[in-house]
Amino acid sequence: MKRILVTGGAGFIGSHLCKKLLDDGNEVIALDNFFTGSKQNIIQLMDKHFFELVRHDVTMPYFAEVDEIYNLACPASPIHYQYNAIKTVKTSVLGAINMLGLAKRVNAKIFQASTSEVYGDPEIHPQPESYWGNVNILGPRSCYDEGKRVAETLFVNYYRQNNVRVKIARIFNTYGPNMHPNDGRVVSNFIVQALKNQDITVYGNGSQTRSFQYVDDLISGITRLMDLTDDDFIGPVNIGNPKEFTILELAQKIIKLTNSASKIIYMPLPEDDPMQRKPNINLAQEKLNWTPKTDLEQGLQKTIIYFDEILKK
Ligand code: NAD
Ligand code: UDP
Repeated sequence: MKRILVTGGAGFIGSHLCKKLLDDGNEVIALDNFFTGSKQNIIQLMDKHFFELVRHDVTMPYFAEVDEIYNLACPASPIHYQYNAIKTVKTSVLGAINMLGLAKRVNAKIFQASTSEVYGDPEIHPQPESYWGNVNILGPRSCYDEGKRVAETLFVNYYRQNNVRVKIARIFNTYGPNMHPNDGRVVSNFIVQALKNQDITVYGNGSQTRSFQYVDDLISGITRLMDLTDDDFIGPVNIGNPKEFTILELAQKIIKLTNSASKIIYMPLPEDDPMQRKPNINLAQEKLNWTPKTDLEQGLQKTIIYFDEILKK
């Protein structure tokens, strides 16, 4: 049995990860400051004997004897990470420093939840890990993008200088149950709007693209990466679903699947909103023998059921 620390454990992805790690027979400590996460996401885990919940902010040092750390703490939705941009940078950078320091001290293996946002508004399509990206240093998204880029730099250098065992995944747009109804990201926004028969808010003309990955596929990808015995394969490795859709196509699909009376309305495109995004997953296929299994329609159906239930409460 391993003792595993999950920062951001009460968030959308963190809650699924904690469940999977517990189901696999590990002891799990979820650490969270509840900025965007909630106890509700992990309420079913609370009475498990090998689960602990710690209210803590990763910008402050934390100590626990653990075998592995998954560093997920960071708001991920643009509206939330832009709410306090300085705090977002601190969470990514100080959070990485604190968790890497802990990993070094207790000799733990450590995973970093990096992001496709390190590619910014990409000029290369689809994006391979070798692409350095196109990020506006001064734009409204840079607190998140640059914070995550510095975190990758820190991880790589703790590996090179201190032999810390690190693994970095660049996660592409992921959706599923346990997203907050007011999360602000596109899949949850559209599903909640459709279920309430409200207008569907497409930003811009809806021709921008994203590639949507169901959360179960992500969890299988990142745990495979962490479980690799080759300590010299540290990533970064793209984990995402390469099937690409326009935002307008997503809106139409969700209206159809929910049988909604909602109308599509068009709103201004946020500044620096990337025009296209799609992962090249050759590296994940080769090194992790991993490929996403859930297609968009299947994943949306499960997510719609989740939101339908919580909106009725
Ligand atoms: P989320 O907002 O649901 O979860 C983030 C969690 O971190 C929340 O529980 C929040 O309360 C916690 N948190 C934030 N700041 C903290 C701090 N200073 N100290 C302690 N806890 C803190 O988002 P998510 O979608 O679950 O994302 C999890 C991780 O995955 C993030 O690091 C995000 O950048 C990364 N990621 C997510 C996606 C995606 O599409 N969901 C894509 C790329 C990367
Ligand atoms: N988007 C939209 N309507 C919404 C929310 C988002 O059209 O209500 C668009 C957004 O402008 C972007 C895409 O959907 O082009 C994905 O946005 P999200 O915030 O989910 O993630 P990210 O931009 O970080 O990929």
